[in-house]
Formats: sequence, structure tokens, C-alpha cells
Amino acid sequence: MKPFDFRVEHRYYAEYSKSSRSACKKCKSNIDKGELRLAIMVQNRFSDRQQPDWHHFDCFFKTYHPPSTADIGHFNNLKFDDQKKIESMIETQPANNASDFSVEYAKSGKSKCKLCEELIPKNEVRISKLDAEADMGYGPVKRWFHVDCFVSSRNELEFQLSGDKIPDYSMLEDKDQKMIRNKLPSLSRKHKAQKENGSEAAKRPKDDDEIALKKQSDLLYNHISEIEKMKRTDIVRLLEYNNQHVP
Ligand SMILES: [Zn+2]
Ligand SMILES: [Zn+2]
Repeated sequence: MKPFDFRVEHRYYAEYSKSSRSACKKCKSNIDKGELRLAIMVQNRFSDRQQPDWHHFDCFFKTYHPPSTADIGHFNNLKFDDQKKIESMIETQPANNASDFSVEYAKSGKSKCKLCEELIPKNEVRISKLDAEADMGYGPVKRWFHVDCFVSSRNELEFQLSGDKIPDYSMLEDKDQKMIRNKLPSLSRKHKAQKENGSEAAKRPKDDDEIALKKQSDLLYNHISEIEKMKRTDIVRLLEYNNQHVP
């Protein structure tokens, strides 16, 4: 029995590993049976179907940044505590993603700025961001920007750090380091304030709604795992007993 359908349109998936045979795309080691695993859906190279690239929880969030839990298929069927774990990764993650970016002098005049779509002249300073969404199974793709284009869309690009935190910043000439520092001051104060609010919310005693929600999702999870253990004949009987259509 398939717990969910890969044809359904979700960019990401989460579930408990059904066997210990799947290997994590990032660290290459196996994912234990029953362990929470997350996938990005990528195009299968030999057919028009999408296939999941599975990851350990930690490995997944080192590379991918789903905008919200709504982008993660099967999310509502996870245990409540695991839903919370994923939510908190999504909320706190953009604060420390320096390794998604790089800065350098354009090696050729052939790269195109992702924002204005103009060519970036050779030897001009350019900034890149890894685009996990464009992953076709070979890892995230580097997107290049003019410095000014990058600066103008830094919020959308989730760049909250100061310019000197970009990897390879120290390889630039002094005058260009200064230019990058001036154009990209840290936005961390704003982010810190958001985080403080967040931790206050976490300290607040859980209200009744949240407790009820936890009960509900744990109950749902238990039902689903019971059904996954059942034989087909038992499932048919259960469906008939509840006057449900038998597929
Ligand atoms: Zn891993
Ligand atoms: Zn540009």
C-alpha cells in the first residue's frame, strides 16, 4: 500500500523510512527504517515521472530551504513532535545560510544575471546564490547576480548576513571588500528581534489548542501506521465495515 502518491504536486516530501535500504543523497549513508526522512522531488532522467531524493533530517536542511510546511507533502501525517521539529527548522534556518552564497570576479563575460538577465562583464564582482529549486539530481545550481541586483533583492534571496560573511569575500581586493561591506550591511538586528519573539512564544505554556492538535496528529499517525501494517483482506473488511468504497 502506498501512503502517498508521488504524482501529487509537492516540491518536498517527509515520511518515516519504510526500509533501511534508502541512502541519504548528501552523506551517502543509509537511512534507518522508521527514521524521519525528507526528500526533494527531482525529475527522473529516464521517464517523465518525479522521484524522491531522500535525506536524513539534518542533511536535508543543510541543503534545502522549503518556504513553508505547506510545500512538504505528507507533512500532516507526521507525528506532532516531528512536525514541530520541521517547523522550527524552517523558521530559524535563513539566519545561517552563508554557504549558499559566494562572491568573486566574473571569470568570463558569459554569465547572465538572474535578476536583470543582462550579461555580467568579465572581471566585474558578482555574487551567487545556490538554487536548490533548480536541482535536477546533480545538486543545487549556482545563480549569478550583479552586485547591485543582488543588493536590491536581498530580502527575497534571504541574505540577512553582512557582506563580509560571504565565502571568498577575503579573496577580493580591498576596495571591493569595502564596496561589498557598504552595500550589504547586516540585517541581523531585525532577524534577532524576530528570533527573540519566537523563543518567547516557545517558552509560553502550551495552550489547549496546541495540546488538542498534538493529540489529533498523534492519533492520526497511529491509525495510519496501524493500517500500513494490515493485510489487504483486512483493509477491505475495514472499508466495507465503514461503508467506504473498496478500490
Ligand atoms: Zn545524511
Ligand atoms: Zn543584474
